Parts: sequence; structure tokens; C-alpha cells
Amino acid sequence: MDTAEVVIIGGGIVGSSIAYHLTAAGCSSVLVIERETHQGKGSTGKSMGGVRAQFSTSVNIQMSLYSIPFYASFDERLGYPCDYRPQGYLFCATSEKHMAYLKANYGRQVAMGLKDARLVAADEIRGMFPQLRADDIVGGSFCSSDGFVDPYSAMVGFMTWASEHGARLWKDTEVMAIRRDGTGAFVAETRRGWVSTRKLVNAAGAWAASVAKMLGVELPVEPLRRMLVPTEPFDDFPHSAPMIIDMSNGFHFRPEARGFLLAWNDPEETPGYKTDFDPGFIEKILTRAADRVPCFENLAVNPKRAWAGLYEMTPDHHPILGEVSGVPGFFAANGFSGHGVMHAPATGKILSDLILAGKTEIVDASLLGLSRFAEGRMIEETAVL
Ligand SMILES: Cc1cc2nc3c(=O)[nH]c(=O)nc-3n(C[C@H](O)[C@H](O)[C@H](O)COP(=O)(O)OP(=O)(O)OC[C@H]3O[C@@H](n4cnc5c(N)ncnc54)[C@H](O)[C@@H]3O)c2cc1C
Repeated sequence: MDTAEVVIIGGGIVGSSIAYHLTAAGCSSVLVIERETHQGKGSTGKSMGGVRAQFSTSVNIQMSLYSIPFYASFDERLGYPCDYRPQGYLFCATSEKHMAYLKANYGRQVAMGLKDARLVAADEIRGMFPQLRADDIVGGSFCSSDGFVDPYSAMVGFMTWASEHGARLWKDTEVMAIRRDGTGAFVAETRRGWVSTRKLVNAAGAWAASVAKMLGVELPVEPLRRMLVPTEPFDDFPHSAPMIIDMSNGFHFRPEARGFLLAWNDPEETPGYKTDFDPGFIEKILTRAADRVPCFENLAVNPKRAWAGLYEMTPDHHPILGEVSGVPGFFAANGFSGHGVMHAPATGKILSDLILAGKTEIVDASLLGLSRFAEGRMIEETAVL
């Protein structure tokens, strides 16, 4: 039987970041088990790559305050690129209610130590992007260190660095069952045989609930389809633009290559493992795009280049992190609710701290434990895109 000090199930960006942070902290006996033949076939390879600190809860802001500077120095620290582009996030409010919400969030962000966020007046938004239909925009908020990364590169950078420092990655190896032996160690049955460990990490993304179930743990993580539509090359809107969010309906977009990447959270979407792209989504999103950016009426899109992936949703839109109570040695790193790429660096650090030292200074980890649901301590995040 193979063995490792820490075994991580799932080789997406979260599992890879945990492997990196463990090895960087001196724990080199790490085994990452990934069922696909290549990394990135889960949500990481489907992500929009947005990173932001403009959240509404202290804990999400703290996760970003570790993660974004980490991405800014990624190439230097790891020797691999993550393509961090600090082009910002611009939230555009179209009602006083939304503006009050942005102001309250801004106050919390400043109190937590975020220095790059600011409120912007409607006229400033009009001046920045005259291409926007701004008759109903009442103001907004902008953070210059928010922006984008290349999730695939970051994941590969994390895992390659970890591998160079002793971690192992088994690809094409599904974990099918887990049991505990007489000494309390976990024994996982995989397609390559049995593996034993005393520290087992669930980093299985949208499939995390089924992994937890192997140990009899109910994990409230549900898959929810998200679709993205890339446009053909388009030069009538600046490619230096930030992620721009129309708060009237949640439509948002950012530059991507010579075109733009369009996103919208369809409220009609229902949970499930749906990863097919629905061509009917194109008309829905283009209607919203042209409504906010009239010149987008001339956008060309090729439905064959559009794609769908899965968010891993929790009831309060915060991740579930840390040791699962009642199952000592079993750690969760799940339920990022659409923020797993931007929060992967903090998650890796938090999990590494909790596994190796039993505590972390990045966040108050007790807030993010699985037990918060049973104990009625949910912490609702409303700034979800
Ligand atoms: C369309 C879209 C846009 C998004 N945009 C953003 C964004 O702008 N910013 C952001 O931060 N986040 C975004 N996200 C969310 C982000 O992509 C995820 O939160 C993140 O990738 C989660 O990483 P992960 O490593 O936990 O999961 P994954 O990348 O899904 O990795 C989990 C891995 O576990 C493996 N696995 C599962 N079960 C088993 C098993 N039994 N045995 C072995 N391996 C197993 C899977 O094969 C998979 O590779 C987006 C997601 C989608 C779909």
C-alpha cells in the first residue's frame, strides 16, 4: 500500500495550491490524486479568471487580501507565470439601493486594509467609458488591484513547483472509496490501488459532496452550471477595460484576447451536473450586452467557442474550509461558490496552516467550518457574480 503524510483528492487549482503551500512549509510527503488524465478538466479550466477584493464580508475580503498580492508576485515566488492583469473591477450601480450597498462594502473593505478600492461618481464612469449606456448609472466602485489571472497557468505553476519540491501527482486515478483502519488512518481505494494517510483533504470541486459521502459526511455543496460567451475580435471598446458589472441585472464582461468574454448568472439555471452549453443562452446574454454597451450590438460570437462549467455552491456562498468535526484528519477545501480561483492562494495557505499547525492567521477559520450550517452560523455573501 502506498502512503503519504497528506493526501489531497482533486488536482484543480485548489488542490494544487494546497500542495504548493504544504511543500513550501516543509511538508514534502504530499500526494495529489486526480481522476482525469489532465489537470484542469474540472471548473478550473472553465473559469473566467476574475480576481477581486471587492466583497461584502470580512472573511472574503481577507481571503482576497492574501490572494491578490500572492498572484501579483506569483512569477517571482514560483518561477512560473499566472498572467495577473490588474485591470480592475468596476461595479456600476443603477439604483440608490445598490449604491448604498457599494458604500457599505467599501467601508468594510477599507476597514480591513484594502487600499486600492474607491467609490466613483456616475460622471467619472461616463468619462472612463463613454461607450456604456449610462443614463441610469448613479455611481459605482472600482478597485485597481482587482483583475484577471490565467487559472490554468496558476494551477500548473502551483503543482509544478510542488512536484519539484517532493509532492507527487497521480493523474487518471479516481478515488472510489475511503475507509478508516484500526489505527484511525484513512485508506483510500483508487484505480491505482490503496493509499493510506492520516491527513486527507477533499479538494474535489463540484464533486466534493460525493467524496465527503465516502466518509459518511453530508457536505452542502451543489453544482450549478455557468456559461461564458467569448466574442470574436472587437476593437470598439478598450481592451484595457476592467471587469465591468452592470448591477441592474448582473451582466458582466471583460477583455479577452482581441475580443471580450461575456458572463451572466441566469436565474433560471437549476443545480445539477450540466456541462453542455445551451445555445439559447447566446440571445439572452447578447440582449443584456447590447442594452448596457450599445456598440456591442455589432459583436460577433461563434456559439462553438462558448462553454459551460460548474460553480460549487454552498447555502451562504462561502467556502467550507478546515477539519471536519467528528472526522479528525479529514479536511474540507470546498464550496467556493464561484470564487475558487481568486481564493486559491489563501485556501492553500489556510489549509496548510491548519494541517501542519492546527491554526491560521489568514482568517478566523472557525467561521468557515462545516459545523456552521448545523449551528445556524451562516455568513451570507451577497456580492456573488
Ligand atoms: C464559467 C465559470 C466561470 C468562473 N469564473 C470564476 C472567476 O472569474 N473567478 C474565480 O475565482 N472563480 C471562478 N469560477 C469558479 C472557479 O473556477 C472554481 O471555484 C475553482 O476552479 C474551483 O477549483 P477546485 O480545484 O476546487 O475545483 P476543480 O477545478 O473542479 O478541481 C477538482 C478536481 O477534483 C477531481 N475529482 C473529483 N472527484 C474526484 C475523485 N473521486 N477522485 C479523484 N479526483 C476527483 C476533478 O476531476 C477535478 O479535476 C468560475 C467557474 C466557472 C464554471
